[in-house]
This record gives sequence, structure tokens and C-alpha cells, in this order.
Amino acid sequence: LTSRIQTAMKTMSGKGKVSEADLDETLREIRLALLEADVNLKTARNFIKQLREKALGAKVLEGLNPSEQVIKIVNDQLTEMMGEKAVPLNKSTKIPTVIMMAGLQGAGKTTTVAKLANKLKSESNARPLLIAADVYRPAAIEQLKVLGQQLSIPVFDEGTDNDPRKIVQDGLAQADENKNDYVFIDTAGRLQIDEVLMQELKDIEKIAHPDEILLTVDAMTGQNATETAQGFNDALGITGVVLTKLDGDTRGGAALSIREVTGKPIKFVGEGEKVTDLDVFYPDRMASRILGMGDVLSLIEKTQKDFDEKQAADQLQKMQENTFDFEDFLEQLKQVQNMGSMDNIMKMIPGMANNPALANASIGEKDFAHMAAIVYSMTKAERRDPELLSPARRRRIAAGSGRPVIDVNRLIKQFKQMRDMMFKFANGKGLPKGMSDMF
Ligand code: GDP
Ligand code: MG
Repeated sequence: LTSRIQTAMKTMSGKGKVSEADLDETLREIRLALLEADVNLKTARNFIKQLREKALGAKVLEGLNPSEQVIKIVNDQLTEMMGEKAVPLNKSTKIPTVIMMAGLQGAGKTTTVAKLANKLKSESNARPLLIAADVYRPAAIEQLKVLGQQLSIPVFDEGTDNDPRKIVQDGLAQADENKNDYVFIDTAGRLQIDEVLMQELKDIEKIAHPDEILLTVDAMTGQNATETAQGFNDALGITGVVLTKLDGDTRGGAALSIREVTGKPIKFVGEGEKVTDLDVFYPDRMASRILGMGDVLSLIEKTQKDFDEKQAADQLQKMQENTFDFEDFLEQLKQVQNMGSMDNIMKMIPGMANNPALANASIGEKDFAHMAAIVYSMTKAERRDPELLSPARRRRIAAGSGRPVIDVNRLIKQFKQMRDMMFKFANGKGLPKGMSDMF
């Protein structure tokens, strides 16, 4: 997405005002970019239509050039379409609040039940009961029980012999008896939506009268995520969505389409396998993620202030000649370190916001020392040419620097990414105006 927008923006930058022709070119790129980010076709079209009207009607904001203007409008529009604000879980006026899960097999229902129950318990002293109603896979019940045990949250199950409807009924009776304030119903999934499953879920819905039917959707399934959401919403009528596996390599464009197609809010996002890897869904953050732009505007500000111009000019030249090597990389890291955490800076660079290699790559003194140790364990030739770094050499460097091989591999990957990115930027392939000052 980012490179497309940047290319489009480059045509526009320098001009004082957005012309209609420029705008259409940019919109075309944005549309393609959204598709690449897994937004579905219909949603992308709608988005562009609304965006066009907004952009044409927009007053030119003081201090923003046309390309920045467009980014801002795109970002605002994305945020708006995803609902602007975080939406909390529904809550019943009398206990228990019943939350029923739905979703395909492997989407993350059971994991999400544990995450949510744990969140409620630790944040508001809630006393949830988890009902194990996936009777098709014995391992599913065991999985929920293990999670419940770890979290000291009770799990109601009747093994795999009883019908899920009966289990739900009995589980609810137990919750009444124990005065649980929340009940989570962990249901079965299928690899695909089918009639039998939908009937079972509808029956459970009739029995349990849930306050919330939370659909769990795997963000990694890209375009299919939207179809799945639509299927469940049409058949069952969901009340909210949890988008899981956003820690993976996905832009999360599904969030936009799901919201648009179902009209139902995304309430939470899953960002890992651990029970604490759950976050409230914030539309504005997701907008930035889908755009992959990070906070371009603040980056421009920050870089203009902090970078040493002479050094930057040298590096720019090196990058144009593509002779940027590991020593330059270290130098670069040091500069970045002076500016604050690596992670923050990298997130502000378009295209880097979701780069998995750089996720959580905040570099402190110690990290920097480790990276330096690795670089200094390379020979001069290796520092200049990462292609030389065979597995055997990597092991030698790891031993020499006292770092695990995995760290060496990571550093090499980061180096290559930074070099490629900078090489592109240095050669004018889509550097937003103002950012050329960075190097
Ligand atoms: P269910 O079949 O819908 O109940 O799915 P599970 O809860 O059993 O999850 C299926 C797999 O996805 C498990 O290995 C989970 O650890 C994993 N999983 C669930 N949520 C997330 C997430 O947000 N991130 C990652 N990386 N893995 C997840
Ligand atoms: Mg499950």
C-alpha cells in the first residue's frame, strides 16, 4: 500500500493544491492498495467513492502539503468507516451476562474465551464460568479446561457424550446457582460454514439468549475473513467481532470490510497466543495499520529536528550507490537511538509500521551493544556484503559475538530491509516530501 501511495503522492507533492486529475490518480492507487491489504472489492469501491467526495470538498489545511492532506483524509475516512470509537462488550442488567462464541475451526474461539474471561477477572473482579460446548473434538474440551485451570476460572463440561444444547442448559443452571456474573459459551467450529453447525448455534442461541454473540475471525485468512463474517452474520446475527492473529503478517484490511459488510463492531483484536495478547479494537490504530503509513507527519517533524545533516548527506550518497554496509547500519542505529526508541521511529516510516522483523524492535543501550558485537564479529568483507553470510559464517559470528544465531539472523534481516528501503527512498522512489531530509 505504502509504496503505491507514495508514488501517487510524489506526483502531487510540490503542487500547492490537489487537482482533480491528481486526485483520481491517487485514488486509483489507494484503491489497489486497499485490495492488497485484504479489503474486499465492494468495500474498497465504497471507500473510494466517499473519499473522493471528501477530498474534493476539503479545505486545504494550513501547513499540510497536498500529499499530507490526502493521507489525513484517507486516515480519517478509514477510522470513520470502522466506527471511530472502541465498542465495549455488551452487559446484561442482571447477572449473568452471557457471551456466546461463534466462528470457524481454528479461528481462536477457545483462546479468546480465555483471554476475555481473564481480562474481566483481572480488571473488574468478575467471576466468569466457561462452558465447554465443543463436543466434536475431545481436545477442545481439554484445551478449555487447561486454560481455566491456569487462570483459576471454573469450566463447566459434560465431556463429549452430551448434546451441546444440553450442556449449555446445564451450564447456565450451574452459573445461576454459583451466581457467576459472566458466562462464556465456547462452541464448536467447522472448516467451513455448514447447515448443521449453523442450526446448532441457532439452537444454543435460543436456549442461552446471549447478550453478545462474538464472532471470532482469523485475520490471516485475508479476503475470506469477510465472507466468513458475512455468512455468520446472515445466518446467526452476530453482535460483535474479535479479529484474531493480528500479530501475524497481515495488514488487517479485513477489519474494514467486516465492519462494512456486517455493520457490526469489531470489539477486540487478538495479537498472540498468550492469554494476555488481547487488545480493545481502536479504529484509528487500525486505520494506520491498514495504511501502513505510521505517523508520517510526526516523523517528518522529528527527523527534521534530529538528524545530523552532514552525516545524512553522506549516507544518502552511499545509499544511492548502494554501498550502504553494516557499519553504516550501526551508525544509523546509533542516530536512531539518540532520537528515542527504534520501534517508535520505525513505526513512523511508511511501510515499516507493520514490518514483523521490526515489531518490538525498541533498541536500548544493551540491544545496541549486542548488535554492535555482532557487526564487529564480521569480517570487513562480510560487513560490506551480507550475501557472504552463509549459515556457517553466521554460526561463527554468533560464537564470536556471544549472541545466539537467531539474533544474528535477525540483524541481517533488519539490515537488508533497511538497506532496501533506504535505497528505494534515496533514489526518489516515493519518498514523501520532507522525508528526504531524513537521510
Ligand atoms: P478455535 O478452534 O476457534 O477454538 O481456535 P483456538 O482458540 O483453539 O485457536 C486455534 C489456534 O490459533 C491456537 O493454536 C491458538 O493458539 C491460535 N491463536 C488464537 N488466537 C491467536 C492470536 O491472536 N494470535 C496467534 N498468533 N495465534 C492465535
Ligand atoms: Mg475451540
